[in-house]
Amino acid sequence: MKVAIDGPVSSGKSTAGSLLARRLRFSFLDTGLMYRAATLAAVGLDDESDVASAVERADIKLAARSGRAVGIMLEGEDVGGRLRGPEVERSVSFVSAVPAVREKLVAVQQRFAETGDVVMVGRDIGTVVLPAAEVKIYLTASAETRARRRHEERVAASEESSYDEVLSELRERDRIDSGRQMSPLRPADDAHILQTDGLTLEEVVASMAKLVEEAR
Ligand code: C5P
Repeated sequence: MKVAIDGPVSSGKSTAGSLLARRLRFSFLDTGLMYRAATLAAVGLDDESDVASAVERADIKLAARSGRAVGIMLEGEDVGGRLRGPEVERSVSFVSAVPAVREKLVAVQQRFAETGDVVMVGRDIGTVVLPAAEVKIYLTASAETRARRRHEERVAASEESSYDEVLSELRERDRIDSGRQMSPLRPADDAHILQTDGLTLEEVVASMAKLVEEAR
């Protein structure tokens, strides 16, 4: 069974998706991490064709970690700890809009899905990567709610954070992700839309688990 979860920046997809996968005993792939690894491979490049060739040359692989989580390897190195830094955060939507980058990563994602039951999260999973997924979910919340959650996470992790900056960066990434030509962020026609303002994480996971049960 394939479960596709899409949604905008900080909609809770990764946290809720990984908890759902654990509950179902499915594999879990956060495709955002793959675009982040591609961004590391293209750091400092601002020309689209340079980005395309750097990412085409890069060795980006998935590696099984303990349990069912998947690690992202770049040039043979586990880059998990470097994927959420500010440099990547600023450029990832630009790199992700390059068609050659998407073609390369989507092929890896589709091969991964052939290995068994999977929960996959991203922006285009229900529309492009797994259009035949049995369950498609689009998680969303207002920009203010998402910015507040992200800001609170950063503060809790003792990182420097300004709510206003988080909100404006998030709006900018939403704008690029929704406006790009190839695979823009949008719900699949047959996706269940889950508005998560006012819901706790547990409530979000429970609603998703119910949709999976119904599909079974
Ligand atoms: O989900 P996350 O915020 O980690 O994703 C980082 C960026 O990767 C997104 O803003 C988007 O530009 C890109 N992305 C994408 N397609 C996906 C997953 C992520 O374009 N399936």
